[in-house]
Amino acid sequence: MRLRFAPSPTGYLHVGGARTALFNWLLARRSGGAFLLRIEDTDRNRSRPEHVEAILGGLRWLGIDWNEEPVFQADGLERHRADALLLLERGSAYRDFTPQEEFERARDAAVAAGSGAVTRLSRELAARVPAAEAERRDAAGEPFAVRFRVPGGSTSWRDMVHGEKRFANGEIEDFVILRGDGTPTYNHAVVSDDAHMGISHVIRGDDHISNTPKQILLYEALGHEVPAFGHLPMILGPDGKRLSKRHGAQSVGSYEEEGVLPEAMINFLALLGWSPGTDEELMSRDELVARFAMDRVLRKGSVFDPAKLYWMNGKYMGRLDTRELAERLRRTLASRTSRAEESFELSDDAFRRMTEALAPRSRSLAEMATLAAPYVGPVTSYDAKAARKSWYRNPGGAVEVLTGVRTELGRAAWQAETLEQALRGLAGDLGVGAGKVFQPLRLALTGLPASPGIFDVLLILGRERSLRRIARAIDTIASHAGPA
Ligand code: GLU
Repeated sequence: MRLRFAPSPTGYLHVGGARTALFNWLLARRSGGAFLLRIEDTDRNRSRPEHVEAILGGLRWLGIDWNEEPVFQADGLERHRADALLLLERGSAYRDFTPQEEFERARDAAVAAGSGAVTRLSRELAARVPAAEAERRDAAGEPFAVRFRVPGGSTSWRDMVHGEKRFANGEIEDFVILRGDGTPTYNHAVVSDDAHMGISHVIRGDDHISNTPKQILLYEALGHEVPAFGHLPMILGPDGKRLSKRHGAQSVGSYEEEGVLPEAMINFLALLGWSPGTDEELMSRDELVARFAMDRVLRKGSVFDPAKLYWMNGKYMGRLDTRELAERLRRTLASRTSRAEESFELSDDAFRRMTEALAPRSRSLAEMATLAAPYVGPVTSYDAKAARKSWYRNPGGAVEVLTGVRTELGRAAWQAETLEQALRGLAGDLGVGAGKVFQPLRLALTGLPASPGIFDVLLILGRERSLRRIARAIDTIASHAGPA
């Protein structure tokens, strides 16, 4: 099997493109075949080198590797032209000198007259120029488009997803394959390239279904073997409409920035339109390669549900070992420059403990990095609602608790058990529940109403930083309450 992904470099790698690339890649890896890339850069106005980089970068991040050097469609221009002229020579195509405006006028007139022959209009107009005259005008350098002469009958194929597909050729107009300026049209370039690259299976979005009969006709006219085709179902937004910008982030890069793990993204994309035939949802890359098959690709559109992606991502984060997760968290933190500037150095031990404590509370690395803020940087504010509740409702009591905590922690050994004994002992001495100690302390240490377990927090921050934060909280409460 030789498969390919053929993105147009007019933007970033979006979710739909990534899904198409993934299905081709899975099939290639499963069959031991080749997965090739072709950059469809013939639209000079919209193609940009930075988009090529973004697309390749997105594929690399996902771990979708390719065989052979990527092919750039624009490099095949001479072959595209030669193929068009070959069809011209064989009589499978003809020169069309009709200026665009004239063609449009004639078409409007035919439509207004209710003529069913619109698809044959170009041929009729071209026939008004006798062959000898066409040759002469060509030789004189007059520009013309090359149109494919669609034969009678019908065109069909067995689609790998949709089964038998058949189009009446009478419905297909004589389409242009080479424009007046000598550039190929999409359908012509794709067929010329796919044949040249020896592509055996074309798997792409089902927005291309109407192109397929035209392409099959071109393969046949050029004398190439017709590849197998499979058209993937549309990806829908949660509202059931085709996925678009309205539904939020579509670029794979934005999920990378959000700290989604590539293994989660791959798993999620694989289930957009494919099912293993069971309820299983979490499948590693290797499992996907081993189990993927086109006969389980669904025909109907599949819904892109970000909540599910983040749920999956949480699962994958939970599966990573702490060292690996800590490494990725470090990278995420480092990429957030403003935070990196003011960051503290946590010991490796403390960093690992923090990673472990935050992992179950995070569905993405970005979320985790946000939650890590009070440990890798300063507490810049205290949550107002939590402060009202656990500090200012009874400022004297809060100061008393935190002063006691400071004394106890000042002399306790810095280990989970001894810290716990010290704080529970203090609560007992003060005759209050443990929560009345933990909540004011949590706020003092993190500025937040919620955090991992308080002993984890103490161990992550270390004795010195913990005591400093407690002292500062005491000052804050005292000054807020005013002089007694
Ligand atoms: N460049 C086309 C697209 O991005 C791909 C066409 C194909 O796969 O045949 O839709």
